[in-house]
Amino acid sequence: METILYLAHTDDDGALPRAAREALTGAMTLRSQMADAAFVAGFIGGDVTAAIEAASGCGASAFYAVAGPDFAASRYASDAAALEAICRASGATIVVAPATSRFNRVIPGVAQRLGGRIDTHVGGFSVAGAELRVQRGFYRQRMVGTLTRAARPWFLTVDGGIFAKFESAPAPVTVQAVPVTLDAKHTRTRVVGFKAPQSSAQTIRPDASLLFVAGVGWTKKQADSQVHLDEAAKVILGFLDKSGASLGSSKSLVDQSTEGQNVFSFMSHLNQVGQTGATPRHPKGLSACCHGEEPHVVGWRFVGERRAINLDPNCGWAQGKADVLYIADAFELVRKVGELL
Ligand SMILES: Cc1cc2nc3c(=O)[nH]c(=O)nc-3n(C[C@H](O)[C@H](O)[C@H](O)COP(=O)(O)OP(=O)(O)OC[C@H]3O[C@@H](n4cnc5c(N)ncnc54)[C@H](O)[C@@H]3O)c2cc1C
Repeated sequence: METILYLAHTDDDGALPRAAREALTGAMTLRSQMADAAFVAGFIGGDVTAAIEAASGCGASAFYAVAGPDFAASRYASDAAALEAICRASGATIVVAPATSRFNRVIPGVAQRLGGRIDTHVGGFSVAGAELRVQRGFYRQRMVGTLTRAARPWFLTVDGGIFAKFESAPAPVTVQAVPVTLDAKHTRTRVVGFKAPQSSAQTIRPDASLLFVAGVGWTKKQADSQVHLDEAAKVILGFLDKSGASLGSSKSLVDQSTEGQNVFSFMSHLNQVGQTGATPRHPKGLSACCHGEEPHVVGWRFVGERRAINLDPNCGWAQGKADVLYIADAFELVRKVGELL
């Protein structure tokens, strides 16, 4: 009989992160297809009370926890020790966890310690007879494969944006504290602070309903043969502020920034979408001043409804890659939309 273990860590404030809530729905979806399987949950963090409460209605038969100041921050050695202890205590054969940066770093190591196997970028589950099959993306999510494994424990990290966020009224549960002893080698790394890329505004908003992608056109000479960087920055930031959109960028635009030209201080390589950038998931996307070539379209794979603004009626978006293409001056159009908002 399989034992499905759902794993989560807390956010800095002790809450259950959105990605963990989504992965919980994924684990419950899997559980619903494996009638014979046991379903248990494990949590790590400084204080896991709020996170367990948020997940308590999931129907798990046991809740395991490793908590305390040593487990508050992401640190490979202590996280690995904690997760290994929970996996051993629960006797897990299938482990479902959110693909957060904290877990992406540590779960492969835990799989190794337990002699298990891991698959990342999991996007779906199906059960045929008693055989579990998972879907996962390959080649920067351009292809979907279905696979199964006999090896156990099998660790599966679930990408964000696939399952709905788990929301439920709290239920009374009994939590089993799993003992973990840390020695000097576990604690020699200390988190002393965060260093973020230079940015005057937090422009990457994974939860936003709109992805706004800016391209090099914003920095090009316009009809008056002049570049209008300050105005472009004002229009883009004004629109982001009003719409709450997440800001994406073409590679060419962020490359310019790092080469010391035409810098938009609110943008870094983290904003880049595409083949060599991110493939974010948002219900809608609006691209402005981008040519929208194939690599860029890769970055839009998981964007539901796609619109673009370009002066050029033959731009890349016109080749069937956008649902709606506005042939217009993005400066004028985005400014106007900002005003209307
Ligand atoms: C191996 C490899 C990997 C790559 N990976 C990526 C990637 O991950 N992401 C990515 O984005 N690119 C990637 N690229 C680069 C990609 O091929 C393009 O060069 C790049 O996306 C072009 O950027 P752009 O559309 O911003 O600029 P441009 O191609 O210069 O397009 C600018 C557009 O702005 C329009 N414009 C100008 N002024 C206005 C205005 N006032 N109003 C409206 N429109 C206006 C123009 O008509 C033009 O279409 C990669 C390339 C290679 C070779």
